[in-house]
Amino acid sequence: MEQIIRIAVQKSGRLSEDSLSLIKECGIKFYNGTGKLKSTSTNFPIEFLFLRDDDIPGYVSDGVADLGIVGENEVTEKNKEVLTLKKLGFSKCRLSLAIPKGEEYSGIEYFQGKNIATSYPKILGDFLNLKKIDAAIHEISGSVEIAPSIGLAEGICDIVSSGSTLMMNGLKEVEEIFKSEAVLIANNHLAEWKKVIVDKLLFRMNAVQKGRSSKYVLLNAPNESLEKIISLIPGMRSPTILPLAQPGWSSVHSVLSEDQFWENIEELRAAGAEGILVVPIEKMVI
Ligand code: ATP
Ligand code: MG
Repeated sequence: MEQIIRIAVQKSGRLSEDSLSLIKECGIKFYNGTGKLKSTSTNFPIEFLFLRDDDIPGYVSDGVADLGIVGENEVTEKNKEVLTLKKLGFSKCRLSLAIPKGEEYSGIEYFQGKNIATSYPKILGDFLNLKKIDAAIHEISGSVEIAPSIGLAEGICDIVSSGSTLMMNGLKEVEEIFKSEAVLIANNHLAEWKKVIVDKLLFRMNAVQKGRSSKYVLLNAPNESLEKIISLIPGMRSPTILPLAQPGWSSVHSVLSEDQFWENIEELRAAGAEGILVVPIEKMVI
């Protein structure tokens, strides 16, 4: 049998698009037709399973899938034995406690003896234990925000990204209890030949991530300020310096993180840099 690994990704939801674009940027081609639950890549030894995100940690710990892309919130909540290989930087959100807008919030003791509705009973339970708060957790699987207005609970614990859903339901966020982003998880007992394929995939993902956070910068500078400019944009090994047709001037090329670029832009200009171009990098192998 051909040796391929399996990766579980969310079928449709807030993780799907970014998960699939990351895989595509790794140069892995596959067909993702509507409603398909399985697909095999045509140019990399990997098969995709399209699942509900809740099921991904379980499938990976059982070994039905070797890898999975899922939110840390689901990984922690499901509490399955899996390895987290890599944070992926998308689907960032937080789990927070919220109460009706009009209530006065005094601190975490507010929740003592109260009822809290959530889809994350484990994460919430651990948090309340840590804070020594005794509250009743009501597990519901969706539309958690309406629980206070229908009298099910005095507070809720749910995913927040902008806070607008809370506001629409007359709630306010009072405690952040967990931060989450998408992660790549793996089965704990992968066969050696599978690890070799996983490493190839990780190598590509790292190159894509590095590329996303780095920029190729080109600028013109008078020769007398080259030393200063090189110290501001040191690059991977060192910048490339090319003479311009105009005597006394050079073109400087370098690679740096976007943050580093913005931090140093004033000093670059003060040192005489001009005609500064910032170009995206597709992939970066260092
Ligand atoms: P499924 O049908 O697969 O069970 P779902 O409704 O449980 O989907 P989604 O709403 O698609 O889940 O969210 C998937 C994951 O994306 C969440 O578990 C969380 O990690 C992250 N997430 C949720 N809400 C947001 C948000 N507003 N912004 C960014 N990331 C989010
Ligand atoms: Mg889900």
